[in-house]
Amino acid sequence: MLDDDLALRSRPGVYLAGQISGVEGYVESAACGMLLGMKVAHEVRGLAFSFPPATTMLGGMVGHLREPNDDFQPSNVMFSMVPAVEGRSLNKRARRDAQSARALQDLGAWLSGVVESNDERIGPARTADRRLRSIPGE
Ligand SMILES: Cc1cc2nc3c(=O)[nH]c(=O)nc-3n(C[C@H](O)[C@H](O)[C@H](O)COP(=O)(O)OP(=O)(O)OC[C@H]3O[C@@H](n4cnc5c(N)ncnc54)[C@H](O)[C@@H]3O)c2cc1C
Repeated sequence: MLDDDLALRSRPGVYLAGQISGVEGYVESAACGMLLGMKVAHEVRGLAFSFPPATTMLGGMVGHLREPNDDFQPSNVMFSMVPAVEGRSLNKRARRDAQSARALQDLGAWLSGVVESNDERIGPARTADRRLRSIPGE
Protein backbone atom coordinates (compact mmCIF):
# COMPACT_ATOMS: atom_id res chain seq x y z
CA MET A 1 0.00 0.00 0.00
CA LEU A 2 2.93 2.36 0.78
CA ASP A 3 5.71 3.63 -1.42
CA ASP A 4 9.31 4.03 -0.26
CA ASP A 5 8.47 7.42 1.28
CA LEU A 6 5.65 5.81 3.32
CA ALA A 7 3.02 7.62 1.24
CA LEU A 8 -0.04 5.82 -0.09
CA ARG A 9 0.70 4.46 -3.56
CA SER A 10 -2.85 5.39 -4.52
CA ARG A 11 -2.53 8.94 -3.09
CA PRO A 12 1.05 10.24 -3.39
CA GLY A 13 1.70 12.94 -0.80
CA VAL A 14 -0.55 11.31 1.80
CA TYR A 15 1.84 9.79 4.33
CA LEU A 16 0.99 7.19 6.94
CA ALA A 17 2.77 7.11 10.30
CA GLY A 18 2.32 5.04 13.42
CA GLN A 19 0.39 1.84 13.88
CA ILE A 20 -1.64 2.31 10.70
CA SER A 21 1.59 2.23 8.66
CA GLY A 22 2.51 -1.23 9.97
CA VAL A 23 4.71 -0.51 12.97
CA GLU A 24 3.64 -1.75 16.39
CA GLY A 25 4.12 -0.18 19.81
CA TYR A 26 4.33 3.22 21.46
CA VAL A 27 7.98 3.92 20.73
CA GLU A 28 7.82 2.69 17.14
CA SER A 29 4.66 4.69 16.42
CA ALA A 30 6.19 7.86 17.85
CA ALA A 31 9.47 7.21 16.00
CA CYS A 32 7.63 6.71 12.72
CA GLY A 33 5.74 9.97 13.22
CA MET A 34 8.95 11.78 14.10
CA LEU A 35 10.71 10.59 10.92
CA LEU A 36 7.80 11.51 8.69
CA GLY A 37 7.53 14.90 10.41
CA MET A 38 11.21 15.50 9.66
CA LYS A 39 10.75 14.32 6.08
CA VAL A 40 7.79 16.60 5.38
CA ALA A 41 9.50 19.56 7.12
CA HIS A 42 12.49 19.07 4.79
CA GLU A 43 10.26 18.65 1.76
CA VAL A 44 8.37 21.92 2.26
CA ARG A 45 11.69 23.76 2.63
CA GLY A 46 13.13 22.20 -0.52
CA LEU A 47 15.74 20.14 1.34
CA ALA A 48 16.66 16.55 0.52
CA PHE A 49 15.94 14.02 3.25
CA SER A 50 16.86 10.36 3.59
CA PHE A 51 15.58 8.01 6.23
CA PRO A 52 18.25 6.75 8.67
CA PRO A 53 20.56 3.98 7.37
CA ALA A 54 19.39 0.37 7.42
CA THR A 55 21.95 -0.42 10.13
CA THR A 56 20.04 1.70 12.67
CA MET A 57 16.89 0.53 14.43
CA LEU A 58 14.96 3.45 12.90
CA GLY A 59 16.22 2.43 9.46
CA GLY A 60 15.37 -1.21 10.13
CA MET A 61 11.86 -0.20 11.14
CA VAL A 62 11.38 1.78 7.91
CA GLY A 63 12.84 -1.17 5.98
CA HIS A 64 10.19 -3.43 7.47
CA LEU A 65 7.49 -1.09 6.13
CA ARG A 66 9.11 -0.79 2.70
CA GLU A 67 9.88 -4.44 2.05
CA PRO A 68 7.19 -6.13 -0.09
CA ASN A 69 5.75 -9.08 1.82
CA ASP A 70 2.64 -11.10 0.93
CA ASP A 71 2.24 -12.01 4.59
CA PHE A 72 3.03 -8.60 6.08
CA GLN A 73 2.51 -8.32 9.85
CA PRO A 74 2.77 -5.14 11.96
CA SER A 75 5.83 -5.46 14.15
CA ASN A 76 7.76 -3.97 17.00
CA VAL A 77 11.30 -3.14 16.05
CA MET A 78 13.63 -6.14 16.32
CA PHE A 79 17.33 -6.85 15.94
CA SER A 80 16.48 -9.07 12.97
CA MET A 81 15.42 -5.90 11.09
CA VAL A 82 19.03 -4.67 10.93
CA PRO A 83 21.82 -6.51 9.10
CA ALA A 84 23.99 -8.82 11.18
CA VAL A 85 27.55 -7.71 11.96
CA GLU A 86 29.55 -9.81 9.50
CA GLY A 87 32.77 -11.69 9.91
CA ARG A 88 32.77 -12.16 13.64
CA SER A 89 31.94 -15.19 15.69
CA LEU A 90 30.08 -13.77 18.66
CA ASN A 91 27.47 -14.99 21.10
CA LYS A 92 23.97 -13.50 20.91
CA ARG A 93 24.59 -10.80 23.50
CA ALA A 94 27.85 -9.71 21.89
CA ARG A 95 26.23 -9.73 18.43
CA ARG A 96 23.53 -7.40 19.68
CA ASP A 97 26.07 -5.17 21.42
CA ALA A 98 27.97 -4.93 18.12
CA GLN A 99 24.77 -4.13 16.22
CA SER A 100 23.89 -1.47 18.81
CA ALA A 101 27.32 0.16 18.70
CA ARG A 102 27.23 0.27 14.88
CA ALA A 103 23.65 1.63 14.98
CA LEU A 104 24.62 4.49 17.32
CA GLN A 105 27.64 5.37 15.19
CA ASP A 106 25.64 5.35 11.94
CA LEU A 107 22.77 7.25 13.56
CA GLY A 108 25.21 9.94 14.71
CA ALA A 109 26.60 10.30 11.17
CA TRP A 110 23.09 10.47 9.72
CA LEU A 111 22.02 13.07 12.28
CA SER A 112 25.11 15.21 11.57
CA GLY A 113 24.17 15.15 7.87
CA VAL A 114 20.64 16.27 8.68
CA VAL A 115 21.92 19.12 10.88
CA GLU A 116 24.48 20.22 8.27
CA SER A 117 21.97 20.26 5.42
CA ASN A 118 19.70 22.43 7.56
CA ASP A 119 22.58 24.74 8.50
CA GLU A 120 23.51 25.18 4.81
CA ARG A 121 20.02 26.23 3.99
CA ILE A 122 19.02 28.34 6.98
CA GLY A 123 22.38 29.32 8.46
CA PRO A 124 24.18 27.92 11.50
CA ALA A 125 21.96 27.03 14.41
CA ARG A 126 21.55 29.57 17.17
CA THR A 127 23.39 28.90 20.42
CA ALA A 128 20.21 27.71 22.12
CA ASP A 129 19.58 25.20 19.30
CA ARG A 130 23.15 23.94 19.49
CA ARG A 131 22.73 23.35 23.22
CA LEU A 132 19.63 21.29 22.52
CA ARG A 133 21.57 19.16 20.04
CA SER A 134 24.46 18.39 22.38
CA ILE A 135 24.33 15.09 24.22
CA PRO A 136 23.78 15.53 27.98
CA GLY A 137 26.88 14.73 29.97
CA GLU A 138 29.31 15.52 27.13
C1 LIG B 1 -4.72 -3.07 24.83
C2 LIG B 1 -3.45 -2.59 24.20
C3 LIG B 1 -2.28 -2.63 24.93
C4 LIG B 1 -1.10 -2.17 24.36
N1 LIG B 1 0.05 -2.20 25.10
C5 LIG B 1 1.18 -1.72 24.59
C6 LIG B 1 2.37 -1.69 25.37
O1 LIG B 1 2.41 -2.12 26.52
N2 LIG B 1 3.49 -1.20 24.80
C7 LIG B 1 3.49 -0.70 23.52
O2 LIG B 1 4.54 -0.23 23.08
N3 LIG B 1 2.39 -0.71 22.76
C8 LIG B 1 1.23 -1.20 23.25
N4 LIG B 1 0.10 -1.24 22.49
C9 LIG B 1 0.18 -0.76 21.10
C10 LIG B 1 0.13 0.77 21.08
O3 LIG B 1 -1.02 1.21 21.78
C11 LIG B 1 0.03 1.25 19.64
O4 LIG B 1 1.04 0.64 18.86
C12 LIG B 1 0.20 2.77 19.58
O5 LIG B 1 -0.67 3.42 20.48
C13 LIG B 1 -0.10 3.27 18.20
O6 LIG B 1 0.05 4.67 18.20
P1 LIG B 1 -0.55 5.54 17.03
O7 LIG B 1 -0.32 6.96 17.43
O8 LIG B 1 -0.03 5.09 15.73
O9 LIG B 1 -2.11 5.17 17.02
P2 LIG B 1 -3.19 5.38 18.14
O10 LIG B 1 -2.58 5.44 19.50
O11 LIG B 1 -4.23 4.33 17.87
O12 LIG B 1 -3.74 6.84 17.82
C14 LIG B 1 -4.59 7.07 16.75
C15 LIG B 1 -5.53 8.19 17.16
O13 LIG B 1 -6.28 8.62 16.02
C16 LIG B 1 -7.60 8.83 16.46
N5 LIG B 1 -8.43 8.72 15.26
C17 LIG B 1 -8.81 7.61 14.59
N6 LIG B 1 -9.61 7.92 13.56
C18 LIG B 1 -9.72 9.25 13.56
C19 LIG B 1 -10.41 10.18 12.73
N7 LIG B 1 -11.12 9.79 11.68
N8 LIG B 1 -10.31 11.49 13.02
C20 LIG B 1 -9.58 11.92 14.08
N9 LIG B 1 -8.91 11.10 14.90
C21 LIG B 1 -8.97 9.78 14.64
C22 LIG B 1 -7.85 7.76 17.49
O14 LIG B 1 -8.93 8.15 18.32
C23 LIG B 1 -6.53 7.75 18.23
O15 LIG B 1 -6.49 8.71 19.28
C24 LIG B 1 -1.10 -1.68 23.04
C25 LIG B 1 -2.30 -1.65 22.31
C26 LIG B 1 -3.44 -2.11 22.88
C27 LIG B 1 -4.72 -2.06 22.07
